[in-house]
Amino acid sequence: MAQGFPQPPSVPSVRPVRSRQNPANVAGLGLIFAGFSTFMFGTLAAAVTGVVHPVLMAGLGFVLMIAGGGMMAMAGPGEQKTMPPPPMVQSPLPAGPQVPRGSIEIPCPNCGAPPASVDRFGVATCGYCQTRFLVH
Ligand SMILES: [Zn+2]
Repeated sequence: MAQGFPQPPSVPSVRPVRSRQNPANVAGLGLIFAGFSTFMFGTLAAAVTGVVHPVLMAGLGFVLMIAGGGMMAMAGPGEQKTMPPPPMVQSPLPAGPQVPRGSIEIPCPNCGAPPASVDRFGVATCGYCQTRFLVH
């Protein structure tokens, strides 16, 4: 009597798709769909059950469809009612010496010429008088 582990049913992962559509567009589409189904099945149900007059249901469906169409027309093709990006405030500029990093501009203490080469120890060698001096 080997009780194996029951295979879990493979649940299809429902991924919420983030559509870029305007919510008003989606709502309008839903209204149109609801109106259409009301028009199609509401009138049928009304005719069968006789609770409501079928013309009333047809009118309701039409109203829903028109409302949905109007909502979609107001929403436009999207991109219109998107919020403007927040204005960029507070761009702090670091106050300090206006010396860009990486460029060493310490002149030679002997002749004042800029260092020709700086080795990895920070020792510069003057290109004119061959004086070696620390740049930092
Ligand atoms: Zn020099």
